[in-house]
Amino acid sequence: METKTKNLKLDLINWYKKNRRQFPWRETNDPWKILIIETLAQQTQLERANQYYEKFLTRFPTPRSMSNSSLKVILRMWSGLGYNNRAKRLYEASKILEEKGFDQIYPNFDVLPGVGPYTKNAILSFAYGKKVLAVDTNIERVIQRYFGLDDTKGFFIENSKYLLSRVDSRDLNQAFMDFGSSICKNLKPLCTICPIEKNCKKYFSKNKKPYEKFKGSNREVRGKIIKLLIEKGSINSQKIIEEIDADSMIIQKALHGLKKDKLIKFKKNNIIEINSN
Ligand code: SF4
Repeated sequence: METKTKNLKLDLINWYKKNRRQFPWRETNDPWKILIIETLAQQTQLERANQYYEKFLTRFPTPRSMSNSSLKVILRMWSGLGYNNRAKRLYEASKILEEKGFDQIYPNFDVLPGVGPYTKNAILSFAYGKKVLAVDTNIERVIQRYFGLDDTKGFFIENSKYLLSRVDSRDLNQAFMDFGSSICKNLKPLCTICPIEKNCKKYFSKNKKPYEKFKGSNREVRGKIIKLLIEKGSINSQKIIEEIDADSMIIQKALHGLKKDKLIKFKKNNIIEINSN
């Protein structure tokens, strides 16, 4: 396993040198910029997240500039990305960072709302150059297929040291990201042109999670409700049901979820608005 792991790393780094995608945050070690792009890119393609990144950085170059803004403004800028909870958590994180700063909470970035193991390690690697793997779905998928594994947890515990030895973790993490999204793709992997095809087990697990159908889904309805509230300000719940083309039960469920996540608040007479707190 050790030799095969090291060979995979070298092959991926070689591939990356010739095929890397150019993004502005790849040239920075500013943790605030890394946090913004990693939050935007969750469940979103990097190319699309990049369009929002420029907009967000121009408006919010520092945590303070975001913490002085309001959730409503941030949600308006977030419009079209979905998963609005991410915007709220980023806003909450900016308030903590305004008080303490990244260097004060280093290396425990997971104290910030919305920062899990992946984002924590992405900040450690991209901003601080630490030798850690930022394990996202791309790296998991490549490892799973290449080594023929259903569960990659044990693999990373035993083999991270071989992957990370004598390499810049930034390059390796980005190599996995780019390779997983352009060659070893989720739905249609390009095995015929894959540079590591010879040694790959091409294992396609049957235990895949079913994807939520977007049209008419809770996620879509949540996005529509937030968009409506941004446009109209306050609005009655009955009006929301009339305006949104979806099953009323799904709308009720979405409203309940948004309230629970503190993205919206209910006022008197069933008037609903964005929660600016
Ligand atoms: S051969 Fe296919 S499954 Fe294996 S790493 Fe390459 S693209 Fe992925």
